[in-house]
Amino acid sequence: MRAVVAMMKHETNTFSPVPTPLARFGRGSGEPWYGSAARDAFRGTNTGFGAFLAMAEDAGFDVATPIAASAAPSGLVEAAAYERMSVAILEAVDAGCDVLFLDLHGAMVAESTDDGEGTLLERIRRLKPDLPIAVALDLHANMTDRMVRNCTALVGYKTYPHIDMAATGAHAGRIVMDAVAGRAVPVMAWGSRPMIPHTLRMGHDEAPMGPLLERARAQEAGGLLAVSVFGGFPLADIPQPGLSVVAVADRDGQQAARAALELLDQAWENRAAFVYDSEPLARSVARAKEMTEGPILLVDHADNCASGGTQDTMAVIAEVMRQGLEDVAVFAVVDPEAVAAMVAAGVGAQVTLPLGGKTDMPTIGQDGQPLEVTGTVRAITDGQFTVTGPMSTGSRAYMGRSVVLDTGPVQIVVIEQHHEPFDLGAFRSVGIEPTQKRYLVLKSRIHYRAGFKPIARQVVECDGVGVTSSDYSLFRFRKLNRATYPLVADAQP
Ligand SMILES: [Zn+2]
Repeated sequence: MRAVVAMMKHETNTFSPVPTPLARFGRGSGEPWYGSAARDAFRGTNTGFGAFLAMAEDAGFDVATPIAASAAPSGLVEAAAYERMSVAILEAVDAGCDVLFLDLHGAMVAESTDDGEGTLLERIRRLKPDLPIAVALDLHANMTDRMVRNCTALVGYKTYPHIDMAATGAHAGRIVMDAVAGRAVPVMAWGSRPMIPHTLRMGHDEAPMGPLLERARAQEAGGLLAVSVFGGFPLADIPQPGLSVVAVADRDGQQAARAALELLDQAWENRAAFVYDSEPLARSVARAKEMTEGPILLVDHADNCASGGTQDTMAVIAEVMRQGLEDVAVFAVVDPEAVAAMVAAGVGAQVTLPLGGKTDMPTIGQDGQPLEVTGTVRAITDGQFTVTGPMSTGSRAYMGRSVVLDTGPVQIVVIEQHHEPFDLGAFRSVGIEPTQKRYLVLKSRIHYRAGFKPIARQVVECDGVGVTSSDYSLFRFRKLNRATYPLVADAQP
């Protein structure tokens, strides 16, 4: 048996000004990994790819790994990059393949297609109409009929932060292996509701997402092969972003349809709970200032690079400085110019420079606004570390050259490449011990919880500036093909 295992992942924020060329798909290390390099990079990691690889090798298959491509969220995937990655997979399938394992995201939008995953799967199916295909997806997938119709079994993460990536791959892989062996005949049913839940309302350990995921697990325990609830990725101007459910049953299409419908109804009934109400920034920071025991997390969620943020807006940092908070560490501002200047100045040098705010954000009518900062360069590193926390465990992180700029009350990590803080290594790798700080400003939405929730005494969500803003009224959705809640308050299911 010959198996192909591949990864092609990107969550596309169509409102983001951050470009997405092929060189972004090596998670900061450069181009994607091809062939044996893909295996070496992801073997044993907590990823769908890692799980698929282990499963195919354990089964004694001849395994091809044409590509492992994963980019931090950003704007539209360049057409050439999309084609190059798709062709790598198509060629490997064409060269001979009895079972295909794909680690995808589900919310990829390219310059050439609104449905990155569906278009890829359709091309594969055209090439090999009967090929068994297992697909692992992110909880933020924006599902399409084209995706569901063109694979054998599709399973999404049941956690956010995403700590069950390998488990999801193993789950999808197991169903398809059973199909290959004739032990199961997977049939899928799916549906969606016209609602775009807020990402800050999709954490798996709280309502309203938690109970939906629990019910999906109960349905699986009751005999469904898999039931996945997708919250969707809201910052995508495509025809139908938002919430969906995919159920996989063994032979019984009616059973799958009933399971999906039950969860869709439950989600729709709770749609108001998926709306996020934000607090004015100055009030959030003032509230944090009154808190005594640290670490207190200040979550700068409007500029989360893992949702397509530029990771260089300065509004929250400026407010923290204005209100005089002390013993603060910030992760992180992406500013290659500032990094270069500080590397040239050297450790110990005092510098004054315009920090951040280098990127304009035309889709939300904002120009980049740097903040002039004076401080001492405390550390310079290569920005690499191995993740030890529960999310993407064992993976290598590449932040580019990384510098700590110390103003006295505030230590700011300045990096060259986008990296969301979900692991304590983000601070420790540059010599800051996060457990010892009173305040940690994190440019993140939910993934910080994986590494930082266990050390946090308090969490304060801070609504700053950025293309991952919680204020949907900033964004112009032009492609929506149905009235969608909460953009339309009385949208119908
Ligand atoms: Zn996600």
